[in-house]
Amino acid sequence: MEYEAVIGLEVHAQLLTRSKIFCGCPTTFGAPPNTQTCPVCLGMPGVLPVLNKRALEFALKMALATHCHIAPESVFARKNYFYPDLPKGYQISQYEQPLAEHGHLDITVNGRPKRIGITRIHLEEDAGKLIHSPTRPVSFVDFNRTGVPLIEIVSEPDIRTPEEAVEYLKALRNILLYLEICDGNMEEGSLRCDANISLRPVGSREFGVKTELKNLNSFRFLRQALEYEIRRQRALLSEGREIVQETRLWDAAKGQTFSMRGKEEAHDYRYFPDPDLVPVKVEATWLEELRRSLPELPAARAARFQRDFGLPAADAEVLTSDKALADYFEACLKEFPQPKKVANWIMSELLREVKKEEAGIAALRVSPQHLGRLLALVERGDISGKIAKTVFDEMVATGKDPEAIIQEKGLVQISDVEALEALAREIIVAHPKEAADFRAGKTKVLGFFVGQLMKKTRGQANPRLANEIFQRLLAE
Ligand code: ADP
Ligand code: ZN
Ligand code: MG
Repeated sequence: MEYEAVIGLEVHAQLLTRSKIFCGCPTTFGAPPNTQTCPVCLGMPGVLPVLNKRALEFALKMALATHCHIAPESVFARKNYFYPDLPKGYQISQYEQPLAEHGHLDITVNGRPKRIGITRIHLEEDAGKLIHSPTRPVSFVDFNRTGVPLIEIVSEPDIRTPEEAVEYLKALRNILLYLEICDGNMEEGSLRCDANISLRPVGSREFGVKTELKNLNSFRFLRQALEYEIRRQRALLSEGREIVQETRLWDAAKGQTFSMRGKEEAHDYRYFPDPDLVPVKVEATWLEELRRSLPELPAARAARFQRDFGLPAADAEVLTSDKALADYFEACLKEFPQPKKVANWIMSELLREVKKEEAGIAALRVSPQHLGRLLALVERGDISGKIAKTVFDEMVATGKDPEAIIQEKGLVQISDVEALEALAREIIVAHPKEAADFRAGKTKVLGFFVGQLMKKTRGQANPRLANEIFQRLLAE
């Protein structure tokens, strides 16, 4: 039997507010443990939480950017459970009346557009962090993160492949970065993803039993965990066995998921409206203000790249799919204002390097100004396109500017006609058969001759001149 995967993601994003969601404690990452706490976030008796307006504003921006319907009134609820990193014994979240619902996000996978539904976006508080001693059988708890604002973005089960899941998560992260409401750092946990996955026979309309995969803190782990889970579930189903609804963890070292616990049900959490917080009412005028203040988002930026720079849609999409990349492209254009040439370089040479680094473009040592200058050198004919690639590799390795590298390595293009002509004559004499072929009308051998000259000059001959010289000499 053929199976199809059904996937839905639950993504938590830490909001970049300066203070926590219900108290005034700072949210700075990396402070000494338990130095950023107060009676409110520690859940002392008698304290009262007050909603941070900036956190609400950020959540609303995300809801607007993903075309959600925003509830005129939403309610905070207590999600009750015990865990040592949760001092109150409950997490303040939203349940029956979330802030926003029924949104969507458009992605492109293998050139095909696809719309992924967003079920809901709600606000909640983060829990603390347990630190397990590597040497002693004890654990520590750091409450600095307790009460840091999060939004949870729940997708519809519209995703069908691991690639779509990765593209969806990348697109979500990109919007968070464009909005400047989350730093998107998956390694540090500012962006976290849980994936729900089930299989069903192709053609079936019902959903199968799902498992929930937790702790997927990179795009690679998300893809690998989903691929593994598809294989695991398919093997069980093919043997006629049942899938157990459960929460599983990804073990990156073993490349496997393993069972963490049986799936808890919503009623286990005994959700109820938090009596300490008033319902959130979003005024229409404020919402309109926020809508108008939204920055240019990836789709609009892609449209502008097509319109103003004459780029093909595919190029515009690749360049804007990562805010840092789009910024890089525009900075490069300031130095070398030929959009298509810059786009081609960025999408081939530059992206190949960027993909080698988990940190992406931020880790790249080539500044956009240096890349722009390199392209200008090619344009002026100082170096060939081929040499430019050598120079670029050196720029990646050393961070030096292109002129310095060309000087150091003596890579300036040979545009001395006489010198090239002398070499060209030698080559023609050494290859009488090819020369005769050319004269008999096989003009394609011209490429062979140019190639020989390139080889002799270690790629430094000006290709345009080389072509002209052979055309002329062979016609003699
Ligand atoms: P739960 O009650 O287990 O929390 P929800 O219905 O709230 O499940 O959905 C949680 C996430 O799981 C959502 O992203 C949703 O799209 C996804 N999901 C729901 N049912 C399935 C299924 N059968 N297979 C895969 N994903 C699913
Ligand atoms: Zn506090
Ligand atoms: Mg649920």
